[in-house]
Amino acid sequence: MKYRELGNTGIRVSEIGMGCEGFAGDGCRNAKCFLDLAEETGVNYFDLYTSNPEVRKSIGEALDGRREKFIIQSHICSVWKDGQYKRSRNIGEVKEGFEEMMSLLNTDYIDVGMIHYVDSMEDWKTISDGPVLSYVKELKEAGRIHHIGLSSHNPKVAKKAIESGYIEVLMFSVNPCYDLQPASEDVEDLWRDENYAAPLVNMDPERQELYEACQRLGVGITVMKAFGGGDLLDETMSPAGKALTANQCLHYALTRPAVATVLSGARTVGQLQADIAYEEASDEEKDYALAFASFPNISWKGHCMYCSHCAPCPKKIDVASVTKFLNLAKAQGEVPETVREHYHVLEHHAGECIQCGACETRCPFEVSIIKNMQEAAAVFGK
Ligand code: SF4
Ligand code: SF4
Repeated sequence: MKYRELGNTGIRVSEIGMGCEGFAGDGCRNAKCFLDLAEETGVNYFDLYTSNPEVRKSIGEALDGRREKFIIQSHICSVWKDGQYKRSRNIGEVKEGFEEMMSLLNTDYIDVGMIHYVDSMEDWKTISDGPVLSYVKELKEAGRIHHIGLSSHNPKVAKKAIESGYIEVLMFSVNPCYDLQPASEDVEDLWRDENYAAPLVNMDPERQELYEACQRLGVGITVMKAFGGGDLLDETMSPAGKALTANQCLHYALTRPAVATVLSGARTVGQLQADIAYEEASDEEKDYALAFASFPNISWKGHCMYCSHCAPCPKKIDVASVTKFLNLAKAQGEVPETVREHYHVLEHHAGECIQCGACETRCPFEVSIIKNMQEAAAVFGK
């Protein structure tokens, strides 16, 4: 298992994490099997959004004696009322839900306390100007949560939230189809058929800006819906009109800036095992470039997808990484120190490009790589 920094939190997380769908299966008897497999394979991160007390209790029992082996991202403002899950901003309910969660999980700390499901500006304003954010900050000061997170599907709202300086971890929906869609306060817009009917060109600029802002501000992204709820794996359901493989979807999410872990939405231990197998997959199995280039109605022409399909370079330049750092610097209008450092530790730099053009013939998206290498050499000075 490979591990990545979760933004500036100082936590290292497995690049494959777990969602909590599987914990609920089989009358909640699954939690122990999921955590056993995770421990065995090095998966150290899981998300818990459900407020179902049965699920929380089963995880608490499964964690017994090994709490410190896992990093828990658990949701605040997701409460259980009248036998049902409810998103709440009522501070009384929110506090009650948090206390119940701590007691059922049988822990005295949560690594990332995630403010649950914030998709509208008005909702973010209610949270940030009202008692919810104050309460979450108190929890952090008291050491009951170690870091503050927020989950969202809306790039505009998520960007506003991370720019507040309070949000250290963002849980966001990332996949190649949702990335084409403009910001919306209605999550259903992400998979509405009519939104994919007209030809779509390149990633939505607000999503790109969000990922770049997270990278710049040291906010770690934990990815949900990497398979679009499974739709992207099925040709008849995928908005792209063609199926992708799980490895391609995982690799796409893991090659976005600031992404630290992708949460597997596995419902069975076997599905989790299949997602963990990404770690052993070959470069060919992970390569999503040709599949994307063949999507009807969708074009990423001229836009670097950081797919590395252009490799190998005779001068061993990692074109995808160089281009990512170049784009981060361009988005900022100057070169942030962290980006400069990351660029400088690359083994080979854009200045070594001999303009052979081999990469350009392999890029399925017709990116002007030689021009980008010249620009990167000028921006970073090597
Ligand atoms: S230049 Fe083209 S092939 Fe290379 S990483 Fe970017 S999109 Fe992929
Ligand atoms: S043009 Fe430059 S970056 Fe591309 S393969 Fe040749 S040397 Fe490498």
